[in-house]
Amino acid sequence: MTEPTYRLAQKRHLTSAIPGQRSLELTARRRTAVAAGVGSSVPVYAADADGGVIVDVDGNSLIDLGSGIAVTSVGASHPGVTAAVAEQAARFTHTCFMVTPYEGYVHVAEQLSMITPGEHEKRSVLFNSGAEAVENAVKIARLATGRSAVVAFDHAYHGRTNLTMALTAKNVPYKSHFGPFAPEIYRMPGSYPYRDESGLTGEQAAEHAISRIEKQIGTDSLAAIIYEPIQGEGGFIVPAPGFLPTLAAWARSNGVVFIADEVQTGFARTGDWFACDHEGVVPDLITMAKGIAGGMPLAAVTGRAELLDAVHAGGLGGTYGGNPVACAAALATIEAMRDLKLPARARRIETLVVPRLQRLAAEVPTIGDVRGRGAMLAIELVRPGTDMPNPELTKAVAEELISQGVLILTCGTYGNVIRLLPPLVIGDELLSEALDVLEAVLRTRS
Ligand code: PMP
Repeated sequence: MTEPTYRLAQKRHLTSAIPGQRSLELTARRRTAVAAGVGSSVPVYAADADGGVIVDVDGNSLIDLGSGIAVTSVGASHPGVTAAVAEQAARFTHTCFMVTPYEGYVHVAEQLSMITPGEHEKRSVLFNSGAEAVENAVKIARLATGRSAVVAFDHAYHGRTNLTMALTAKNVPYKSHFGPFAPEIYRMPGSYPYRDESGLTGEQAAEHAISRIEKQIGTDSLAAIIYEPIQGEGGFIVPAPGFLPTLAAWARSNGVVFIADEVQTGFARTGDWFACDHEGVVPDLITMAKGIAGGMPLAAVTGRAELLDAVHAGGLGGTYGGNPVACAAALATIEAMRDLKLPARARRIETLVVPRLQRLAAEVPTIGDVRGRGAMLAIELVRPGTDMPNPELTKAVAEELISQGVLILTCGTYGNVIRLLPPLVIGDELLSEALDVLEAVLRTRS
């Protein structure tokens, strides 16, 4: 197995308070120029990033446990990716695949056919963002089935465009006052083992949703079901075993398109190429983005040839979709993931992190649940002795970690989940140092 190489020293090192002077100055400038509606999780500005570290404009080196929300799995400046980007940019940055096509797009589509679940004949179409991929998966499903209803689930996150806001469950901050939303979206209960009634199996949770779908919508109106195989923004919720296979099998036998939204879970993040692989689930359509291109904006829908080829010529596309520089980055990213055996590396991260967090959970009463898969791991924080969400503590813990030089993100419908999404190339020592800090903060704050 090739070992990762690093350009920057892989260490946590603080040269100033967080944020430092230059970051504070940029924050002041930003207030006069950048829309207030765009938030940032950390108060520092990036100057450089590589492997498991982000260096800010004041020279602070932070351990990265966020990967720009599960994007830079190969690191933020993997040499293969940056070289491929530079080489392609020096030849041409854009022609528009809908005008003058190029090989990179075709090559990415071939690779996606190979690595996504299922041996069937597949086709792909490329876009710029996760939300755009989801929108297009729904377009394809509606056209191919001639039906209009779409089922999304509690705790789902699918994006911020009008249709994907409608699919997303959480009101604040994603949907509040942005309506009216797209019609014909129905929300069903999913599977949340920590909060579901105890003993409920995945199969039973799926049957519960299926019976509601049959009663409330009717299968002959239903185009698609969309599910994140591990729900991301909703709280890193791993459905109970059996939930996804039951739902997918029911969809298949009723002519309903099963869309797996793997925008956050895809590309080695959960210890396999895709999270669906863990239970052998083969989606009809799969949406991808984030980890696909090492930080360059690219997204894709891959799925059954008969679904994608049902769409008339010109029905799918966009000016920038499958940009040649982003395609070059994706090809280099996929190659790096194979060379560095990143699915195995994600599984190793799980074995390094989860036992430590479980030991901690046995001692710290505010840790309600430790869960996740591969390098998509989370701690759900509660009020001691209950399962009541503890968003205040979650916020305080994240702020404290960031001030100590560990970049960590939160998530969850109730705002009470600390999530770990390190670059998959992070070294064991650096990861272990980040866990030391996390452990110390959780012990003192709880
Ligand atoms: N689907 C899922 C599962 C996601 O996690 C996200 C992003 N967090 C999206 C869709 C939207 O992706 P983007 O922000 O690239 O539009």
